[in-house]
Parts: sequence; C-alpha cells; structure tokens
Amino acid sequence: MTGQADEHQRTMAFADIALGQIRALRQPASPRNYEIWYTYATGYSPSLNQKINDTLKEKGALSDADLEQIYESYLSPTRLSEKIDTVGSRVMGEIEQVMAMIAAAAGTATHLNENLASATDKLNHAQPKDRDGLRMIVESLVQSAKEMEESNAKLEARLNASKQEITDLQNNLETVRNESLTDPLTQLANRKYFDETLAQAIEDGRQRKEALSLIMTDIDHFKAFNDNFGHLTGDQVLRLVAMSVKANVKGQDTAARYGGEEFAIILPNTVLRSAITVADHIRKAVMTKELMKRSTGEHLGRITISLGVATAHGNDTVQSLIERADACLYAAKRHGRNRVMCETDPEVAAGGMPAKVA
Ligand code: GH3
Ligand code: MG
Ligand code: MG
Repeated sequence: MTGQADEHQRTMAFADIALGQIRALRQPASPRNYEIWYTYATGYSPSLNQKINDTLKEKGALSDADLEQIYESYLSPTRLSEKIDTVGSRVMGEIEQVMAMIAAAAGTATHLNENLASATDKLNHAQPKDRDGLRMIVESLVQSAKEMEESNAKLEARLNASKQEITDLQNNLETVRNESLTDPLTQLANRKYFDETLAQAIEDGRQRKEALSLIMTDIDHFKAFNDNFGHLTGDQVLRLVAMSVKANVKGQDTAARYGGEEFAIILPNTVLRSAITVADHIRKAVMTKELMKRSTGEHLGRITISLGVATAHGNDTVQSLIERADACLYAAKRHGRNRVMCETDPEVAAGGMPAKVA
C-alpha cells in the first residue's frame, strides 16, 4: 500500500472511533465534538484523554459545557498564541501599575522635600519664642514623613505582589514553551526542538572540542504491525519505544520523535563507541518487551528496532550529520534489522538504499 493510502486508512479508523463515541454518548455530531473525539481516538493529547476519562468516571456523561471547556483548554487552535498574548498583556499591566506607584511615591517624596525646604526657611526666620509656629512646622514635617512612609509601604507591597505575579507568569510561559516543543503522543522532544538542539550541540561540540554523537532509529516492519493490530495499538507501541529510549539516555542527551515511527537521540560529549553502547541498550530494551493489548490481554509478540550511529566531524552541519546517521540506519535495515550500525562499519561504506519490505 502507498504511504498516502496507508495514511487514509489510518485517518478513517480514527474517524470511525470518533463517530462511534459521538453516537454512544448521544452528542451532536458538530465539528467541535468530532475534533474532540478524533483527538481522543488518536491519543495525541494525553491530557485531553485524561480529562475526558476523569469527567466520564465522575459524572457518567459529558455536558455541552464540559465539551466546550475541553475544546477551549486542549484544542482551540489559537490557544498557544492566546496564552502568550495573555501573558504579555498581564506583564504590561503589572509594569503599568508599578510605574504608577513609583510616580505616586516620587510625588510624595517631592512633597516632603518641598515641605522640608519651607520648614528650613521658616525656622531660619522664626522667633525663638514663637512656640506655636515651631509646633506647626514640626507637625507638618511629621505629617509629610508619615505620608512618605505610607506611600513607601504601599509601593513595597505592590512590588512584592508584582514579583509573585511575574514569577507565576514566567512559569506559565515555561509551560507554553514546553508544550510547543513536546511530541504529544510520546512526550519526547518534537522535531522542532530536535532541530534547534542539534544545531546548538554541533556548535558547542566544536567550540569545546568535545565529541558529539547522533543515533537515528526506526521501528522494524511497523507497517505490518499496524496492519495486523490497528493503528491505535501501533500508537501504544510508539509510546513504549519512547519509554525504552528515555530509560537509556542521560540528562544531557536529547531524545526526540523525529517522524512517524522514527526517533533520534543527540548525545553531547559522547564518543562513537559509547553511543553504540547506548544504542544497543535501547535495542535490547525494546526487543525483550513482550507486547500485550491492555484491553483484551491479547499477546502481540515483540517488535524490534534498527539503529544508526554517527559522530560529528569538524565541518558537519545538522543535515550532513543526520544523513550519515541515516545511512547507518539504512545499512542496519539492509543487513537484517534489529541491529546497530555505525559509520566505521565497512558495510555502511558499501552504501545503497535498504530493501523495501512489505
Ligand atoms: P522497515 O522495517 O523497513 O522500517 O519497515 P516499516 O514497515 O516500519 O517501514 P515504513 O517506513 O514503510 O512504514 C512506516 C509505517 O509506520 C507506516 C505507518 O503505518 C507507521 N506509522 C508512522 N507513523 C505512525 C504513527 O504515528 N502511529 C502509528 N500507529 N503508525 C505510524
Ligand atoms: Mg520509517
Ligand atoms: Mg520502520
């Protein structure tokens, strides 16, 4: 089957599930409800699925208000930019309020200064016996100092509140940024984050004169798996492979979903030999897992992955490094799959594309 036909079949399977849910829960088949249930069927937004499952568990049904809220929270296409706009205008609001407080405090300080100047002047000309006059001067000074103190206290409280608000907003922005760089299905870094990180890692490696390795991996015969067990089960397998990848990389490494069923791992400060060891650990972790369909207990056998490993050379770009790791991955496919190959393997130099397996 062609890639396009395959994609069509996959989309239709999700659409069927979505419409089935709408029918079962007797909801209007509106575009909004369809989008909610389609996303639910794909599992692309684990937090949306969680929310729906929790609500159904709690109430047994989803009201129109629930659906509206779910759509707004998890799907509204403008959500990310709206969130960023909201954060921006809230920061501006905070800054305006603080500026106004500073202006008011500055006004009070000017008032105190003027009062001090006038008091000094009056004191210079006051008669030593004019006790009432002196008392008035002192009272006026005490009053101005009090106003100054109150205004300072208000400013301090306002600044503290703003500091808290700005910290909250920073956290919000951090969440939005993380969402935009994460693959929703596997929770690994997405392609955008991978591209940015690899460019930076190549640059850093060059500057620090440190080795940088890249692993590219692809699930073996995954099309057949999907054809046999369905795409939703296939998606669960993608999550499982992602977990095996994550479990075998260190803090400074970046594991990403590179494409449909392909993953990539950036390993800074790692020589080829060590990267091959990491790749082999991941390979073994995946092949030793006995797969089972959670809902039915059906045994699905095992899956394997192939991996290609390359290390950055002096003049590598993002593209050239990926191409070399990819060439190793193709060689691993050509030589029987479920294996790790690297650029120093003589078979890789032989080149050529992998045999296509149905
Ligand atoms: P090979 O060993 O040569 O890699 O064989 P393959 O069948 O894995 O390779 P191919 O690239 O032809 O097929 C990739 C398949 O991966 C196509 C599609 O069915 C599946 N796939 C891609 N993305 C997803 C996804 O997000 N979810 C699921 N379930 N399947 C996906
Ligand atoms: Mg592939
Ligand atoms: Mg594959």
